[in-house]
Amino acid sequence: MHLRRKLVVGNWKMNGSRAALAELGPIAEAARAAPGVDVAICPPFTLITLAAARAGGILIGAQDVHEAESGAYTGAVSAAMLKEAGARLVIAGHSECRARGRETDETVRAKAAALLAHGLKAIVCVGESEEERSAGDHVVRVVAQLLGSLPELSGEAELIVAYEPIWAIGTGRTATPADAGEMHNAIRKALSGRFGDAGSRIRILYGGSVNAGNAASLFAVPDVDGGLVGGASLTAAQFVPIIEAAALS
Ligand code: PEP
Repeated sequence: MHLRRKLVVGNWKMNGSRAALAELGPIAEAARAAPGVDVAICPPFTLITLAAARAGGILIGAQDVHEAESGAYTGAVSAAMLKEAGARLVIAGHSECRARGRETDETVRAKAAALLAHGLKAIVCVGESEEERSAGDHVVRVVAQLLGSLPELSGEAELIVAYEPIWAIGTGRTATPADAGEMHNAIRKALSGRFGDAGSRIRILYGGSVNAGNAASLFAVPDVDGGLVGGASLTAAQFVPIIEAAALS
């Protein structure tokens, strides 16, 4: 079995301003006090460069990327641009981007491939809808989505997977540790089947209403290698206890 460092990633979504960057100080302090944990914040595009300048040891990331190198894609941002701005890791295929068919598995795969090609860590998100879970199809659907979204591993850049049940994102509802364990185990098997030994080194994050109260029990689950955190990453007061829970797990 490979030892995987815990990773806690904050996704600020379309929140935050220059003033919000003051939160990075205490978050970085907590990260320094937790040397076994990697900590990242993904602010909106407009704050990446400013955030990177005051990151203090935490990784700064982005929430999305366009798969092309450059061209007539109004409003889009490429992997090279994100890297130049100071991003070290980037989310691809968040369910809020996949929604309404805006992104297919193929698009997510191309985005992740572009990120790895530029030496950026790529977080590929997968997750089932409430209907798929109720129908008992959740594992089959998520594994199929995962296999369709995975790029080839290339170079030294790191691929990370985030399991985020759609019904748990921003709702205050969280997968139970047992439910998360079932899915993370299935994802681990799929990664090992696809990449062999390298698959056992890929970190799998859980996302969906992670907070100070539930982080410890989720991070204790085998194959839960940390969290992708939305709402509870917006303030240091809420995010720091999650970093501390990861350090203790
Ligand atoms: C997310 O946006 O990836 C997320 C998990 O959000 P929240 O923690 O708010 O559910």
